[in-house]
Amino acid sequence: MDFSRVELSTEDEEFQRQVRADLDRLVTEDVIAHDRETGENFHEGLHLALGDLGYLARDFNREADGGFSAVQRRIFDLEIGRAHAPWFHWPTTMMVARTLLKFADPDLLAEIMPSVLAGRTRLCLGYTEPEGGSDVATVKTKAVRDGDAWIINGAKMFTSNAHNAQYVFLITNSDPEAPKHKNLTMFLVPMDSPGVEVQGIRTVDGDRTNITYYSDVRVDDKYRIGEVNGGWAVLRDALNSEHGTVERNAEGLEKLATMTEHILLMAEAVDGVAAVAPVDDDAVAYRLGRAAARLEAALSAPAMSGRVLIAQTMRDTAPELMDILGAAASLPVATKGAADDGGAEYIFRLASPVGIYGGTLEIFRNMIAQQILGLGRPNYSPPIKR
Ligand SMILES: Cc1cc2nc3c(=O)[nH]c(=O)nc-3n(C[C@H](O)[C@H](O)[C@H](O)COP(=O)(O)OP(=O)(O)OC[C@H]3O[C@@H](n4cnc5c(N)ncnc54)[C@H](O)[C@@H]3O)c2cc1C
Repeated sequence: MDFSRVELSTEDEEFQRQVRADLDRLVTEDVIAHDRETGENFHEGLHLALGDLGYLARDFNREADGGFSAVQRRIFDLEIGRAHAPWFHWPTTMMVARTLLKFADPDLLAEIMPSVLAGRTRLCLGYTEPEGGSDVATVKTKAVRDGDAWIINGAKMFTSNAHNAQYVFLITNSDPEAPKHKNLTMFLVPMDSPGVEVQGIRTVDGDRTNITYYSDVRVDDKYRIGEVNGGWAVLRDALNSEHGTVERNAEGLEKLATMTEHILLMAEAVDGVAAVAPVDDDAVAYRLGRAAARLEAALSAPAMSGRVLIAQTMRDTAPELMDILGAAASLPVATKGAADDGGAEYIFRLASPVGIYGGTLEIFRNMIAQQILGLGRPNYSPPIKR
């Protein structure tokens, strides 16, 4: 691994100054307060403003097509994190849009892509269902062909940002008789279609997500993504980028794993605790040092291993950080008397969903066992009675 520092060119330094200035201006206290209150990880004004300034298009496009260089992309990601910009809806939108480029009808792409890159159109993920999400190929939401259209019925759980999205990337069962993985069809369903209903739910870390219901939703065939009953290939493409198992470029500047932005929030929390903890106490110094070392290890682990280590480190370390500070560490941000302004307390609540969304830690551990360690499929049958 190459740990050398990247020398920024004059243009890169100027780019960094510009991004920082734009974010300082746009990520106002009101934007941060809105995010804290709503838990949406999205702010329409900010999203549209960054779209207007061309950042969304440049983030989406390859360098050869006018997009960021690898260094600029890295700078942009780090500055977005540093500014605490409510931002998760854009990576989701971008991930779906990249899959659409490979599988969607060119006319549909021409219809929606300019507006995606301008920030006016956002996309959300409709995979998980109330009866279970890990085995996503078992979805029960039905799509039945009706002439040039499809009729969709079902429900999806945890459709994050559905209330801010214009389309949901929806996986359906289009042939209940066909074998698993050969019965799925993917759609990009307009959220303003009659029969789509969105119901908000809040999670333990304050995030807003949704249950979405689909009752006799009529969707034109032009919104089908990929082949009829070929949805598994489309879904796999999108899941590979969500899982962070895609090939990385040679510059070594891409994120090593998904969710590194979460562990950077934990790095801030560790700094916050270190600023107020009695560090001359050897036990405190030892525990803080261990937290920092685990943080570095999580930040340095690639792909699925990094994904697991990030969430596990957050889960293991947040209670330790709170323990160092005592009872006042259980008070949340902006509360009088909070030991570290709620930094560790927030990581404690965030760590749990970080190990669930985008695939649970158990599922990732199974995938590491099978795909990296070659240990074969787990055996779920009951133990043999002797
Ligand atoms: C905040 C939040 C936002 C989300 N956003 C979205 C979104 O935008 N779109 C979307 O489609 N989904 C979203 N999800 C859903 C998320 O992807 C699922 O919660 C996750 O994949 C797990 O599915 P499940 O909740 O149905 O749990 P289940 O699949 O029912 O699993 C329950 C438990 O059993 C374990 N388990 C299941 N199968 C196995 C196995 N084979 N081996 C070992 N253990 C197993 C799991 O690890 C888990 O602990 C979100 C979830 C959260 C919490």
